[in-house]
Amino acid sequence: MTRTYRGINSAMIHGGLQTDESSHPVNTPIYQTSTFRQFSLGDKVDYEYSRTGNPTRAALEALIAELEGGKAGFAFASGMAAITAVLTLFKSGDRILISSNVYGGTYRVLDKVFSRFALKYTIVDTEDLSLVKQSITDDVRAIFVESPANPLLTVTDLMGIAEIARRHHILSIADNTFMTPYLQRPLELGFDIVLHSATKYLGGHSDLIAGLVVVSSAELAEQLAFIQNSTGGVLDPFDSFLLQRSIKTLGVRMDRHVANAEAIASHLKNHQAVARVYYPGLPDFKGYAVNLGQARNGGVMMSFELTGDYDIRKFFAALKLIALAESLGGVESLVCHPATMTHAAIPPEIRAKVGITDGLIRLSTGLEDVEDLIADLDNALEQSRIRE
Ligand SMILES: *Cc1c(COP(=O)(O)O)cnc(C)c1O
Repeated sequence: MTRTYRGINSAMIHGGLQTDESSHPVNTPIYQTSTFRQFSLGDKVDYEYSRTGNPTRAALEALIAELEGGKAGFAFASGMAAITAVLTLFKSGDRILISSNVYGGTYRVLDKVFSRFALKYTIVDTEDLSLVKQSITDDVRAIFVESPANPLLTVTDLMGIAEIARRHHILSIADNTFMTPYLQRPLELGFDIVLHSATKYLGGHSDLIAGLVVVSSAELAEQLAFIQNSTGGVLDPFDSFLLQRSIKTLGVRMDRHVANAEAIASHLKNHQAVARVYYPGLPDFKGYAVNLGQARNGGVMMSFELTGDYDIRKFFAALKLIALAESLGGVESLVCHPATMTHAAIPPEIRAKVGITDGLIRLSTGLEDVEDLIADLDNALEQSRIRE
């Protein structure tokens, strides 16, 4: 089909659609079928078995490939299934460089699962490109980054990483979960592979678990298609449909998420209970300028630390509207305690080294009225005061 639009919001609504020639639905139907009829032996068919390909999933895969500006997209049953599929591009003896603030599950799968197959990793502070360059030994085959990274919102210069990777003929991989293609498109900055936990902003309503991968070349597309079909961690037709439904509103949701986050970050920054705010949208944040050079804005996720006069347990207990929960990116605001929740899989020594303190609070700002969110935070901070 010829494209009749230019902007990303139009692409979110019109991209990827698979039309059914009999009824012309405006949405891709849920093809809830495991297999497809073949009319003669050796027939060349578009779909033969739903692990290999399913029209509802194919529509989602075409949509995310279009949004990220890549060659092909792949949908998986979770973000971790997507990351696992990408890691199986490598073989024993290979080494992957990973950002020091990488998602806890990414660290865990490398440290506890892929290590059994002798796939090695090195943790690097990717905020510092000279450290990245120094860490490239002969066995390094890829650099895996998140920017901004979980949970200190550390910003990595994505163009810089892509250039280093290209120069060393190794792959660059970005986990773009925190930004989504609406705010940041790593492939356009020179990356080879971008992946998502679509459970977060792309899904956006805390009601599904999904992962997506987009690759930049036909060669990688062929390899990933082979891995996806061989290992089988595919997204089912219903969640493939639900995710497309969510992506149609990604732009408007992100605009409001970001507006709320910006208001809350400035409020917390000026609050006497708060010692420090980590948010790439604050002009005095370390990665502010680099982030603005590669993303639409500072995004939604932020973390903060209380001063010694406030008790973090009391703070979590006193919140009424904002829920204490793992995950992020939904319409509802959530807080979490990285040290004991999302990043508990990372040993305390490494947590301390990378700055994930026991006093760190991560906030995923939802779409509620920002006045209600600020009132809830203010009240909980007041309740958590232990010293005058
Ligand atoms: C949640 C998350 C993942 C893992 O995705 P699941 O859908 O939970 O498997 C990976 N990366 C980041 C940045 C995440 O936030």
